[in-house]
Amino acid sequence: MEKQNIESFINECQLALRNALTTYPEIETTNYLQGLPKELVEKIFRLKPLSLFIPESYGGRGGTARHRLALLEAISYESIGVGLMMGINGSLFLEPVSKYGQEETKTDIYNSFLNSSSLGGLMITEPDFGTDALSMRTSYSQIGNHVHLKGAKHWGGLTGLADFWIVTGRKIKPNNKLARDIDLFVVDRNKREQKISVDEYYHKLGLFLIPYGLNNIDARIPATSRLIPKTSGIKLMMDLLHRSRLRLSGIGLGFIKRMLDEAVNHCRQRYVGGKSLMAYDQVQHRISLLQACFTVSSAMCHYTAGVSSIRNDLTSYALQANAAKSVLTDMMHDSAQSLLQLTGAKGYRRDHIAGRAVVDSRPFQIFEGSNDVMYSQVADYVLKKMKKSKYRNLYDFLNQLELTTNAADHFKDVISFDLNFSSVQRARVKLGKIIAKLITANFTFNLYETDFQEDLVDNALEVIGNELASMISSLKQSRLVSVVENYSENSDWKLYQPLTTAIV
Ligand SMILES: Cc1cc2nc3c(=O)[nH]c(=O)nc-3n(C[C@H](O)[C@H](O)[C@H](O)COP(=O)(O)OP(=O)(O)OC[C@H]3O[C@@H](n4cnc5c(N)ncnc54)[C@H](O)[C@@H]3O)c2cc1C
Repeated sequence: MEKQNIESFINECQLALRNALTTYPEIETTNYLQGLPKELVEKIFRLKPLSLFIPESYGGRGGTARHRLALLEAISYESIGVGLMMGINGSLFLEPVSKYGQEETKTDIYNSFLNSSSLGGLMITEPDFGTDALSMRTSYSQIGNHVHLKGAKHWGGLTGLADFWIVTGRKIKPNNKLARDIDLFVVDRNKREQKISVDEYYHKLGLFLIPYGLNNIDARIPATSRLIPKTSGIKLMMDLLHRSRLRLSGIGLGFIKRMLDEAVNHCRQRYVGGKSLMAYDQVQHRISLLQACFTVSSAMCHYTAGVSSIRNDLTSYALQANAAKSVLTDMMHDSAQSLLQLTGAKGYRRDHIAGRAVVDSRPFQIFEGSNDVMYSQVADYVLKKMKKSKYRNLYDFLNQLELTTNAADHFKDVISFDLNFSSVQRARVKLGKIIAKLITANFTFNLYETDFQEDLVDNALEVIGNELASMISSLKQSRLVSVVENYSENSDWKLYQPLTTAIV
């Protein structure tokens, strides 16, 4: 591959995408059931941006974690859908192949990506097993040098469009039960025996250019297609998912920066009541919150660039990966909602970025670990460690935890309280949000060590401080409200006479 400065290559890819989206706006505005037509996919991938995820020794550009994040940011600024497409190919397919794939398979895969614009994806989720993915039923048996993999998977990003898939499954043991561990295989859909057929395409709410659906897998694949874990398949999957969750910060930053720029441009130009929207205090408040999201997601990228190289084992990074993923994706959706509010009715058009951004950002809070579950796991992790080392006070514990030391000190007054170790899950979700905010505040603190604009960091920490205060007061005050099972009984207001009747 021709040698070129990687930063300028990323800029070129961004400009090429901007031009493609101007010339072919249907890339973003048409809801393609079966995904983007191949000729439009080729417009997007014309400069081979995925070469940044392919090692130089195989003809790629072999970028670093920093370059890959920068690419995701630049592309997602132009289009969150295309950004996610890059993320799926890079973080969920090419990087795991690069790290765990067997040499026999790599050359074919990389050649196909570089010369035939092939695409890849990851299938974990099954109709009956989403959050509970480790109970998956897709199974395999090995016969000689081949593996027979069978099962049903759904919601794999790029369903029907990707040529290569990493598919997860469990081995059938001699007693016909499924092994506890998970194995991962590369399936090449273009090979006749490696069958993945699409039983149904799903009508989706947003992310129009990415096809989703239900896949039936019945594939006979060479044993060399198995990804080789260092220890167990579950750990391999954790390493893969933690890296991907952290790398979402690149997509999130590009998206949030776009929301911020769109909001500022709109509010400067729109006059209401004789003055620019920018002159209204509530509008300024919204923009300052968008700026805080921009700063915090920049800090996440800054952290992720340092730790997420494929050479690093991220199996044990659950706390920071789950915290960053949930805070980031909540910020993405909040930023989109804010832009839609500021743009008014104009934003509620399918051909306007604000309305699209709301639906496009929403599933980020669901996939790669539902945020409710992620927050609850963050709290569980910390509560377990605190219990074990006999801490009761949240500040005392977080102050000595490397991931939160600076933030804990800064917010000592609000977080210095004793925890209830037997709290219900809803309280643990709230606690998880508080801890996750503190972890991302700590990333933000690290920006003080760089030349990143200090005012932005000050403001972001101020915003986090306000959010923490409100979350902690809600945690302390919350009373358990239980679900009323028979809520349809005696609950129709029309059956009851008003207590006051206005006489006109
Ligand atoms: C746009 C999009 C893209 C996707 N891309 C991919 C992909 O590329 N590859 C892939 O394999 N999958 C993908 N998925 C699937 C996604 O990862 C799953 O949807 C997700 O894991 C949740 O599984 P589920 O939908 O079965 O929901 P469920 O597991 O039924 O959970 C639904 C909700 O129940 C609640 N819940 C569940 N468990 C708990 C718990 N323990 N505690 C408290 N609350 C709980 C949460 O609110 C959760 O959001 C994608 C999904 C979407 C929408």
